[in-house]
Amino acid sequence: MFAGIDFVALAAGSTEDISATSKAKVALPWYRRTLRWGQTNIAEIDPQRYDIAWWRQRWKRTQTQGVIINAGGIVAYYPSKFPLHYRASGLGDRDLFDDLTRAAHEDGLTVLARMDSNRVHEDFYRAHPDWIARDAAGEPYRNTDLYVTCVNSPYYDEYIPSVHREIIGRSHPEGFADNNWTGMDRDKICFCDNCQRKFREQAGQPIPRMKNWDDPVYRQWIQWNYARRLEIWDLNNRATREAGGPHCLWLGMNGGSIPYACQRFRDLKAIWERSEIVMLDEQVRVDATGFQHNGEVGKLVHGVLGWDKLAAESMAMYQAPQPTFRLAAKPEPEVRLWMLDGIAGGIQPWWHLVSAYDEDRRIYRTAEPVLRWHAENQQYLVNRLPIATVGLVWSQPNADFYGRDTLDELVELPRHGWTNALVRARIPHLLVNADHIARDTDKFSVLILPNLAAMSGSQIEAARRFVERGGSLIATGETSRCNEWGEPRADFALADLFGAHVIGGQPASIDPATRRSLLEIQHSYLRLTPELRSRFDGPKAGDEPAATGERHPVLKGFDETDILAFGGRLEPLRVDSGAAVLATFIPAFPISPPESVWMREPRTDIPGLIVNEPHGSGRVAFLPADLDRRFSRDNLPDHGNLLANLVRWAARDNFPLRVEGAGLVDCHLYRQQNKLILHLVNLTNAGTWRAPVDELIPMGPLSVRVQLPDGIRGNQLQLLVSKHKTRSSVKNGWTRFELPTLLDHEVAVVG
Ligand SMILES: [Zn+2]
Repeated sequence: MFAGIDFVALAAGSTEDISATSKAKVALPWYRRTLRWGQTNIAEIDPQRYDIAWWRQRWKRTQTQGVIINAGGIVAYYPSKFPLHYRASGLGDRDLFDDLTRAAHEDGLTVLARMDSNRVHEDFYRAHPDWIARDAAGEPYRNTDLYVTCVNSPYYDEYIPSVHREIIGRSHPEGFADNNWTGMDRDKICFCDNCQRKFREQAGQPIPRMKNWDDPVYRQWIQWNYARRLEIWDLNNRATREAGGPHCLWLGMNGGSIPYACQRFRDLKAIWERSEIVMLDEQVRVDATGFQHNGEVGKLVHGVLGWDKLAAESMAMYQAPQPTFRLAAKPEPEVRLWMLDGIAGGIQPWWHLVSAYDEDRRIYRTAEPVLRWHAENQQYLVNRLPIATVGLVWSQPNADFYGRDTLDELVELPRHGWTNALVRARIPHLLVNADHIARDTDKFSVLILPNLAAMSGSQIEAARRFVERGGSLIATGETSRCNEWGEPRADFALADLFGAHVIGGQPASIDPATRRSLLEIQHSYLRLTPELRSRFDGPKAGDEPAATGERHPVLKGFDETDILAFGGRLEPLRVDSGAAVLATFIPAFPISPPESVWMREPRTDIPGLIVNEPHGSGRVAFLPADLDRRFSRDNLPDHGNLLANLVRWAARDNFPLRVEGAGLVDCHLYRQQNKLILHLVNLTNAGTWRAPVDELIPMGPLSVRVQLPDGIRGNQLQLLVSKHKTRSSVKNGWTRFELPTLLDHEVAVVG
C-alpha cells in the first residue's frame, strides 16, 4: 500500500468499453484513482485537540479518498531529527503526522504530506545565514516574523530533500504537496552570494539592480528564475521517488491564475507537462471572473496535462476571499456552485478547512452532499474527452513580457471577457496554449487570440497555417504586434490575415502613460457600418447618409442602433482593399454638462472591427477595439453579444450544442466511449456577480439539442442529478430534450 499502488476496479477505461473494463482488476497508482480529497490544515494548537476518531468519520461520510496532512517545512508536526526543524508549539514529542497517516492508511486513503518550504524561524537563520534571501543592501528578506529562504541555496538543494526522506522513512506518505514552494516572488530581487554567483555563471552579467522590462539582462533574470523553479520541481521528485518508490510524487501546489504564476515564476505549461496529477490551490471565486472561472481552470489545466489525468482543487469551506474569516462557514450554496462548476470542468473536489476544531459547525455541512453525489456518479466525471469547436489561446510569456506590470488588465481581462461571452452564449470552448496551436490545429474550427500581443515566430507560423487550412481566427487588441519579448514589431505579424496594418508609431501599450490610459473609461463610441438609420427611424441630422445596404451578420441584433458604447481609444490603421470595416471609432467627447454632449467628430475611418476572408482560407476577424477587456470589466451586454456574434460567424454556426431558455448557464460537453455527457451549471442568481450566493434559484425550462457523433445513437437519456424521466428525440443527427427545471446543476448522459 505505501508504495502507492492499490488494486481497484477500474470504473471507466479511457479507450475501452466500461462494462468490459469494470470487470477487470487493474493496478492504478494513487494519482490515477484518488478522486475525492480532504484537508484539515492543522493549527499549532491542534495537537492537543485533534479528535482523530471524529475526523475518520468525516472522511467516511464525505467519501474522501485522499487527505493532505501537515508534515513539515515552516512547522513540523512530527519530532524531526533536524534540530532546526521548528516543531508545532503544542506538539511535544508526539508524531501527529504519523498518527493521522496511519489512520488514513488503515481506512484505505491516499496521504499527501503537506510541506511549506518558503520560510524559517530566526534560529534557523542564525545557523544558516547564507540560506536566506537578501536585498541589495545585504539585509535578509522577512515575511511576518519569519525569514524567506533563497531558492538558490542549499536549503532547497539539500535540506528540504533530506526532510522529505525523513518523512518517507518514518510514515510512508504516497507523496508530497508543497503549499509555497517557489521562494520569493518577482517583485523582489535576491542578491545573496548564491544568486550572484549562479547568475553570473549563467548570464555572464551581474544580477540586475532593479526591474526594467526593456533590459535584456532583466528578462534573462526572469527566465533564469523560471528555470530554477523547474529544477527544484525535478530535484524534489527525484528525491521522493528515490526514497519512496516510483509513485512517490512531489507536487508543488499552484493556482489556475496566470498572473499569480507569473508573479511566482511558475511555468504552468512546463509544470503541467511534467505532472502525473495536479494539485490546484484556487479555493474560491471572485466577483470579476465568477463561478465559471473554475470550469475554465479545469480546461486550462487539462489542455496541457491531458484529459486522462486528474486535477484536484482545494476548495475553501470557510468564508473567503473578501472578506476572509478562516473559522466561519461560507454559505453552502456559494461553495456548492464553485465546487460544481469545477467538477463540470474536469476538476476533482477537495474540501479544505483550517484548524481541526470548528465552532461554526455549519462548515462541515457543505462538502458531504457534493462528494457523495460525486462518488455515486464518478464513472461519468473522469475518463472523458471534451467536445468543442472553439479554442481560446493563452500564453504565459505574453503575460510576462507584454503584460509586464499591468498583465491583469492587458492579458487577463481580455481572456476573461471571452470566457464570459462564450459561457453566456453557451458555446462550448477549450483553452489552448499558444505553443500548442500547431498540435491542436485539427481539433478546432475557430481560434481566439485575446490580445495575444507577444508571439514567437513559431506561434505566428502555427496561427497562419491554421487559417490556411481553413480554420477561422479572431484576434483582438494588439495581437501579434510584438515579438516574444514584448518589443514592438513594425507591423502586426498577422497583418495580412487581419487585412489591417500599422500606419506608424508605437503600440499604445508600450508607453507607460498611454498604457495606463488604455485602461480608463472614455466617453467614446463605435459606429456600425453601414449605417441603417432612415428617415422612418426618427429625427435625422442634415449631414447623415440615408439608409444603405445590409449589415454583415456579425452585427446581427443591432439593427436599431448605428452606434455602440465603447470606452476605449483607437489608432488609425491601413486597411487592405479586400477587408471589410464593420465598425469605426468615434473619439471621446464630454460627458457633462449635458449641453456639451455631442460628437465632436461623429465619423472617422479609424477601424474598430475588421473582417477578412483571405482567398481559400478560413475567416478572420480582427477587433482592434478592446471589447473583450471591456466586457470583462464593464459587463455591457452589447459587448458580450458582439463577441458571441463574431464566434458564430467565424465558426459558420457549427457548434455541437444548443441550449435555449432564459438565464446564465455554464455548459460542458464531453464524450466517453459511446456516450455524451453534458454538464450544466445554473449561474442565474442574485449573487452571481456579488459573492456570496446564499440561495439556489431554479431556472428552466431549457431546450437542449446535442449533435450526435458517429457511434452514438442518442435515444437514451439519463439525468444524474434530478433523476427526472425525460425523453429525447433524435432527428437529423441531433438529439433533443427538455429540462423542465435546473436548480444548481444537471448531468445528462446521452447514449
Ligand atoms: Zn539568493
